[in-house]
This record gives sequence, C-alpha cells and structure tokens, in this order.
Amino acid sequence: MLPSTWFELPLQEKPMPVLFLGHGSPMNAIEENPFVAEFRRLGKTLPRPAAILCISAHWETRGTHVTAMQAPRTIHDFGGFPPALHAVQYPAPGSPELAQRTQQLVDITEILADHSWGLDHGAWSVLKHLFPEADVPVVQLSLDYTQPPAYHYALAQQLKALRHRGILIVGSGNMVHNLRQIAWNKLDQPFGFEWALEANDKFKHFLLHDQVDRLIGYTKEGAAIQRAIPSPEHYLPLVYTLGVRDESDTLQFFNDVPVGGSLTMTSVVWGG
Ligand code: ZN
Repeated sequence: MLPSTWFELPLQEKPMPVLFLGHGSPMNAIEENPFVAEFRRLGKTLPRPAAILCISAHWETRGTHVTAMQAPRTIHDFGGFPPALHAVQYPAPGSPELAQRTQQLVDITEILADHSWGLDHGAWSVLKHLFPEADVPVVQLSLDYTQPPAYHYALAQQLKALRHRGILIVGSGNMVHNLRQIAWNKLDQPFGFEWALEANDKFKHFLLHDQVDRLIGYTKEGAAIQRAIPSPEHYLPLVYTLGVRDESDTLQFFNDVPVGGSLTMTSVVWGG
C-alpha cells in the first residue's frame, strides 16, 4: 500500500524507468514463449515500484479516466479463448492515492475518477510476468478516443513527476498492430510483412533519434505506417511513454520480433 499521504513517498533522485510493452495475443498471459521470458527477466531487473500507472490499449473512453478503487477486478475483455485464460486472476491492489495524485498533476483536462473498470488484459497479461506476486498496486489511465496524439503526449508530460516518487509508468500496446491483415498460417514463427517491418524500423529510428514530432505526426509518415496503425489505440500507449521520458534516459529495445505478419512485439525501456 502507498502511504496515506502522497508526500510521504520519498522523493527519488533517480527516476523510475518507463516501459512500453508490446502485449500481442492475450494468450501470452498463460503461454510460455521468449516474449514472456523477457518480461520476467525485465521484472527482476527493475527497482521495486511503489505503484504502477498503466496505460493500456484496451481502455478507451470519452474523456480521460483513472481507476480509483482499492481492489480492481481482473477483466477478461476478449472472446474465443480457452477457459484457462478466462480463469486468470491478477489480484493486485489499486491505489486511490495514486489516482488522486494523477488527477492533481494534470491540468490540461479534468481526469475523472473511475470506480467500475479494473485491470484489462492489456495490463494484466504483461504485469503478471513482470510482477507475478501481484503485490504492487496498479492504477490504469484510460485513452480518450476523441483526442489526437498531441493531446496524449501533452497529458503524459504532466505526469513525469511520478517517476521521481517511485511510480513505474507502463504503456501496453503494439507499435505495429493490424489484426485484419494477420497471416493466420504463420503464427507459429516470427514473420512480418514488408510494410510491417518497414514501419517497425521507422518507429525505432524515430525513437532512437528522439524525433517526437514524427512519432506524434505518424499519420503523415507514409503508407507502411498507415497500414501499421489502422486505429490508434495500440500505438497511443507508446505516445504516453514518450511524454514521460527524459532526455537523459537511455533507451533499449527488446522483443523486437514480428508476429503473424502484421504485428510487432517491439518493446522499449527508458532509463533504468
Ligand atoms: Zn491488444
């Protein structure tokens, strides 16, 4: 649990790392594969967070909301998967204190306290591997689907201070994510269509060279990227992590692998 008064959390000179995690199929929650092995490895190297603020591709709302309940439920927001996946519970506590602090830090919009969501699979399918004990409080911040990327970037910038209070900020989505183009016969091996690989390479190049304007203005970056992002929800969590990064942060990629032709699992660690 966080201290009841926010400012009892010690101010840390070294900010917490920031993560963008490519989550891919919900089955990654229960399957053993190299992606989840990397999530586990990463979980062991991170400093222990006071709490996690997660921006998942799977919570889109009108307006920006933050989960404010003590005990968020595990949401199984998918269909057609085996009972074993529906049986997964991730009973991490919430943190009304972190929700409130998030509301206080942001002034470009009014962040609304939510008491009905919980943890969707964008959050728990990856956090389960990073923090298997489910003992770190988790708060989710929603994606306002009415807003452009620049809004999400500006909002994230106002959350930067959380990193100095031991809060781990996690974006969970996929840089390249076009489910309509999936090659169902190639799911058992790393495989990416040419346009997917081109888009993935461009994103990495922009990230490595800190070309924030191009990442925010991705719709103007050509056909490959337009095909990689037919709708923005799996990309926007990356924009949030960009917003809270520091110029002094180092950047590392992992799970840089295409799946099913039209998805990439490419994940990023800033700082650490
Ligand atoms: Zn997803």
